Amino acid sequence: MKVAIDGPAAAGKTTLARALAQKLGFLFVPTGAMYRAAALAVQRGCNLQTGEITVGPEGTVFLNGENVTAQLSHPSLDELSSALAVDEAVRARLVALQRQIAQGCDVVMEGRDIGTVVLPHAEVKIFLWATVEERARRRWRDQGGHYEEVLAAIQARDARDSTRAHSPLRPAPDAVILDTTDRSEHEVLQQALELVEERRARLAR
Ligand code: C5P
Repeated sequence: MKVAIDGPAAAGKTTLARALAQKLGFLFVPTGAMYRAAALAVQRGCNLQTGEITVGPEGTVFLNGENVTAQLSHPSLDELSSALAVDEAVRARLVALQRQIAQGCDVVMEGRDIGTVVLPHAEVKIFLWATVEERARRRWRDQGGHYEEVLAAIQARDARDSTRAHSPLRPAPDAVILDTTDRSEHEVLQQALELVEERRARLAR
C-alpha cells in the first residue's frame, strides 16, 4: 500500500508521515528532505549530477554516503530547496529516485507532488492543510526568530511552490483534505489511520 501525504510548508506533513509509518510498519520517505539535501549539495559547491542522495531508515537522508539529516532543517535550506525545486531536471531525477524507493514496498511518502505526480496510483492520498498564520506560528514556535519574517518566508514559499510550471503544489482530485488548523497531532494521526483502515477494508472486499 502507498500512502501519499502532500501539503504546503509547515502543515505538519513530516510529523504525520513519520508517526503513520511507525504505526503501520511502513517505510517513511520525506521527499522535502531530499530536495533539501540537493540544496545542501549546491550550498557545498557539489555537482548535482554526481551528488548521490539516498534515504535510509526512519527518514534519514544521505548525501554521497554522509548522513546529513540533522543539517536539513537549517532555515537557509528553506528558500534554496524551494528555488531548486522549480528546476525540471532536478525534479525528474528526484522523482525517479522516489519511485524507485517506493517500488515493491509499503510506504508513507510526504511532499508536494506525491499524490499528483510521484505516486498517482497511491491507495490513500491526504492533502494536509492549515491556515498560513497557523503554519507560521508552528514554525516560529519551533525555530524562534520574528513571527512576521517567518510568516513572510512561508507565504513566499507557498506562492513559489503553487505557481511553478512543473508539478505545482495542489491536491490530487482524489485526495482527502485534512484541515489541521484546530487539531492536535494526535487527532490528525487518528484521522489518517482511519482513512488507511477504510481503504484497506474496501480493498479486501
Ligand atoms: O517539505 P519541505 O519544506 O522540507 O520541502 C522543501 C522544499 O522542497 C519545498 O518548499 C518545495 O519547494 C520542495 N519540494 C517539492 N516537492 C516535494 C517535496 C518538496 O517541490 N515533493
